[in-house]
Amino acid sequence: MARPARARIDLDAIRHNARLAQTLAPDSQLMAIVKGNAYGHGAVPVARAMADQVDGFGVACIEEARELRDAGIHNRLLLLEGFFTADELDEIDRLRLDVTVHSDYQCHAIEQANLSEPIAVWLKVNTGMNRLGFAPDNVPDLIQRLDRSRQGSERILMTHLAQADDPGTSTTKDQLARLNALLDQYPNLPISIANSPGVLEWPATHANWIRPGMMLFGANPIADTQPGLKAAMALESAVIAERRIEPGDTLGYGDHYRANRPMRVGVVAMGYADGFPRHAPNGLPVQIDGHDSVLVGRVSMDMLTVDLTDLPDAGVGSRVEFWGPNVPIETIARECGTIPYELVSQVTARVPRYFE
Ligand code: PLP
Repeated sequence: MARPARARIDLDAIRHNARLAQTLAPDSQLMAIVKGNAYGHGAVPVARAMADQVDGFGVACIEEARELRDAGIHNRLLLLEGFFTADELDEIDRLRLDVTVHSDYQCHAIEQANLSEPIAVWLKVNTGMNRLGFAPDNVPDLIQRLDRSRQGSERILMTHLAQADDPGTSTTKDQLARLNALLDQYPNLPISIANSPGVLEWPATHANWIRPGMMLFGANPIADTQPGLKAAMALESAVIAERRIEPGDTLGYGDHYRANRPMRVGVVAMGYADGFPRHAPNGLPVQIDGHDSVLVGRVSMDMLTVDLTDLPDAGVGSRVEFWGPNVPIETIARECGTIPYELVSQVTARVPRYFE
């Protein structure tokens, strides 16, 4: 029998979430973000599942785009970081990719390039994220340069929201104000602003293209809202051994957990080499054969331990769900001091994905 650690991926849930995004932003085109192996869910199966629903896929880099093209994905593909060196432009041309242009060296490379056909350029404007992008004041000059070079076909103005997951801050409104000041000069250029929280909470950011990622995989990026998303990944494994411990006994490495009553503990095939966070706290919720229980003891590389004391029917072979439809990933992320984005994208290649 194979090691029981697995990630079950519900492709219907992903399609449901994509439909929800489109329903919320009915007049926008949908650029589904599937970088980072579709946030750990498997880029090719996920892109195949959504191919007829979306207008394009966003990936980080050319290697991720090549994987999708090789798998027969014909949708528009956008390189969210653009390219790193000018020699990538040949393959960008061959694979017919859309590029983000966020820095002068990229604009210069496009000006010098000899493309078979112009490519679509997504000009990134820094409106407050202060990561990638040009200052709004520099955009007119860049547009002129791209016009002169004739290497860019369509141009899309894009910006990225820094705090849209916090409806209480003024940052999103400030970012929109900076962008709008620029848009007055370019009333006909398509615009792209919204990530998942933008799609869910900020209709003013929907514009011509939405770019949701996390919401497609069913995690809610905004606390205390119920947007109707369906969890796409169930991270599961099974109990592979049982043990009884006495008051005062420690469990696994170190002195992270010490029993204060007689306990029955299940050893589960799941560890930090699978991407499960080593710093997960004692008491983290899990489900065992559909019943609530908790993690006890330090997570090790290949195993962790759960409390079976109050589950007399559970034992070797019992199914354990760490996150998924029955254990909200938002709760697990909060308890582990991280975000769902990190949890799903760090599930390692050792964990087989089963697509349903
Ligand atoms: N657009 C850009 C430029 C991104 O970098 C990302 C992801 O970080 C997204 C859209 C999607 O963001 P989210 O997963 O919050 O929807």
